[in-house]
Amino acid sequence: MADKEVIHDELKDITMDDFFSDEDDDMNQVGSTMANVQLQTPNRDHVIDQQQQRTQLVAPRQFSVVSEDQDPVFLLRLFYQRLFPYKLYHSWLSYGINTSKSFTHREFSFTLANDIYFRYNSFADSDALKKEIERLQPVKIDIGAVYSVKPKDKKSVSEKAFRPLEKDLVFDIDMTDYDDIRTCCSGGNICHDCWQFMTIAIKVIDKCLRDDFGFEHLLWVYSGRRGVHCWVSDERARKLNNESRKAIVGYLEVVKGGAEVDRKVRLPSTLHPSLERSLEIIKPYFIPLILNRQGVLDTRDQWQKMLKIIADEGTRRELDESWSDDASLSARAKWDELKSLVSDTAKSFDTTTRDIIFQYLYPRLDEKVTTHINHLLKSPFCVHPKTHPAECDSFDPLTVPTLTTLAKEINEYTPRNDNDRKGQDFKKTSLKPYIDIFEKFVHQLVMESQREKRAATAMKSDGFGGRLKIDDLRNKDRRTKWWATLDHSL
Ligand SMILES: [Zn+2]
Repeated sequence: MADKEVIHDELKDITMDDFFSDEDDDMNQVGSTMANVQLQTPNRDHVIDQQQQRTQLVAPRQFSVVSEDQDPVFLLRLFYQRLFPYKLYHSWLSYGINTSKSFTHREFSFTLANDIYFRYNSFADSDALKKEIERLQPVKIDIGAVYSVKPKDKKSVSEKAFRPLEKDLVFDIDMTDYDDIRTCCSGGNICHDCWQFMTIAIKVIDKCLRDDFGFEHLLWVYSGRRGVHCWVSDERARKLNNESRKAIVGYLEVVKGGAEVDRKVRLPSTLHPSLERSLEIIKPYFIPLILNRQGVLDTRDQWQKMLKIIADEGTRRELDESWSDDASLSARAKWDELKSLVSDTAKSFDTTTRDIIFQYLYPRLDEKVTTHINHLLKSPFCVHPKTHPAECDSFDPLTVPTLTTLAKEINEYTPRNDNDRKGQDFKKTSLKPYIDIFEKFVHQLVMESQREKRAATAMKSDGFGGRLKIDDLRNKDRRTKWWATLDHSL
C-alpha cells in the first residue's frame, strides 16, 4: 500500500477524539514533527468488542476502492465544512461576540496528515481561521497562549518583544499516569473501569477550582483515549503567571513521586478542609473500584505494591504471609486485616490507610501542562466537552462517534419539517449533545464579558449611575471589584 493510502487508512477509522490526537508533548518539544494518530490495540474484552463494533462501521483496513463516505479526505472536508463550530470556537477564544486581541494574538498550531506541523499561526477573525483549516485539513489543532504580538508576525520582532500574555488555565489528567494502579489496561487504552478514575478526577478538581479558587467557567473535555482536559476560562485564571499556576498545581497535587517511590502520599494527620472534602469524594470508590474491579489485592504482585506503602516491615511480612496462606480470603477481608494490623502497630494508623486511599484514587495531574503559560494543548473541539461533573458518570468514552458515523448520520438524517432541514448539520449527528455543552459554556463566558463591558461603561460615564447599574449585577465579586476600582480612583 502506498504511504498516502496507509495514512488515509489509519485516519479513516480513528474516533473523533483520536482525530485530534493527544500527543501534546510532541508539540511542545522543539524539533519534534510528529503527532501520532495510530490506533492502539485494546487489551480488554469489552474494549475489543467496541473495537469490533467500530470496525463494522468502517471499511476494512485493506481496501482498494474507497467509497466517498469512507474516504478520509472526504470525511475531513465534510467535518471542517459542515460540522466544526467555528463561530462558537471564535467566541470562546475572543471571550465575547466580537473578535478581540485574545483571538487575533492567539497561537494556533496545526498538524497535518503527513506529520508536518505548523506553529505560530494566528488569524484576523473566524473566517480566516475557517479558510485556513479548510485548506490545510489538519489532523490535530493545538491552542497556545495569547502573545504580545500576533504569532504570525513573530519573526518580525525581537525575541524579547514576543511574550505570552495570557492563556486559559488548563489541566491535563492522563490515563497513563494511573498505570501503576490500574490492572485493567495500560498506556493509551481505556475501558469503563479506567474511566472511573477520570470521573473521580473531574469531581475532585472541579470542586476545588470552583469552591477553593472561585472559578466559574470550566470546560471539561474528553481528550481521547488518554484522559481529560479542563479549560478554565475565567479572566482571572487567564491572567495568571507561571508562578501562580505552579502554586495552584502545588495546592492540588497530593500524589508525588515516580515509579521508584512506593509511598506517594504523605499528608499531615489533620487534613486541610479541601483535602477532607476530596477524601469524602474519593472514599466511596475505594472498595468497588480499587478492591473489586481493579483487584489490587487479588494477586501477590499487586498486593505487594500496596504493602510497600506500609512503613513497618513486620506488618508487611505478616500480611503477605497471611494472604499467601489463605487463597480464599476476599479482597475486603484482606483490607480489613490490613487496617486492623496497621492500627495496632503504627503510631499513625489513620494516616497510612487514609494515604493509601489517596494514593489509589486522588487525581494525578500532568504538572507541566498547567504551569507553563505557553504550553500548547490539543484543541477541545470535536471532542466531548463536559461542563458538569455530575454528567461524567454517565459519559461513555467507548461510544464516541467516528468521522464515518457522523458522515452516515448526516446522510441518513430525515428532517421532520423545514426548520429541521435548514438546521445546522451538527444537530443532525451524535455530536449534538457535545456541541450543546460547549455552546452553553461559551454562552456563559460571552454573557459575563457583556456584563463586564456594561459595568465598565457605566462606571466611566457616571459614578452614581454606574453604581445603580452595578447594583443590578448579581455577582458579588464583580461588585466588590467595582467598588475597589472606585475607591482607588477617588
Ligand atoms: Zn481499563
